[in-house]
Amino acid sequence: MYCMVLFANCVLALCWFCFICAWFDCLGWVATYSGRSGYGTPDYECRYCHAMFWLHECVKSESSVRGGQIIYNRCCKGGKVVLPPYKQRPEPIASLARFDGDSQCRKFLKTIRQYNCLFAFTSMGANIDRSMNDGRGPPAFKISGQVHHRIGSLLPDSGQRPKFIQLYIYDTANEVRNRIRALHTNERPSEPLEPAVIGDLLEMLDAHNPLAKQFRLARGARRKWR
Ligand SMILES: [Zn+2]
Repeated sequence: MYCMVLFANCVLALCWFCFICAWFDCLGWVATYSGRSGYGTPDYECRYCHAMFWLHECVKSESSVRGGQIIYNRCCKGGKVVLPPYKQRPEPIASLARFDGDSQCRKFLKTIRQYNCLFAFTSMGANIDRSMNDGRGPPAFKISGQVHHRIGSLLPDSGQRPKFIQLYIYDTANEVRNRIRALHTNERPSEPLEPAVIGDLLEMLDAHNPLAKQFRLARGARRKWR
């Protein structure tokens, strides 16, 4: 009982604290107590790579605000590091993963995690401790030991369905169906995934992903040897 009262008091105190801060901000007042800094918004841009910065992040010894020479070295080292231009995303991901898109885009973004799981090459390996998820608190993900990837064999054992990398090599005539079946029950979305979208994403990976291309080579070699 004592804990609950204490918790309620803390929540109430936090709310009042936030409310008062917001009120002061609205009035344009900045608190002056020690430990608080106010640098405004990051309005300055590196003239070479266009990264955004706060003025206080510039190299003070080389910068002159009055002369318009403001140098940053936390991005491209003042133009010394030339980054390759940003690559446009291929289709269909460019059209589907849009926050300003239509209902199909919204549906895709809602289930993008499941679509991502469909094409995983490997599974994650670690000692997962689920004992604390007993419904008495927010869900937690706790692991111990070395985190690693499990790749397994290129082909499934006799009588087993393909999963992960095996989906790129084995029974690819039924690949979309196999991928949907391989999705772990914990990952199944409330709305079904669209086979046409899965097929389009597969074509995209085959065309652009170097690992997918390698695994398809293994599929080709297997067909040749059979
Ligand atoms: Zn830069």
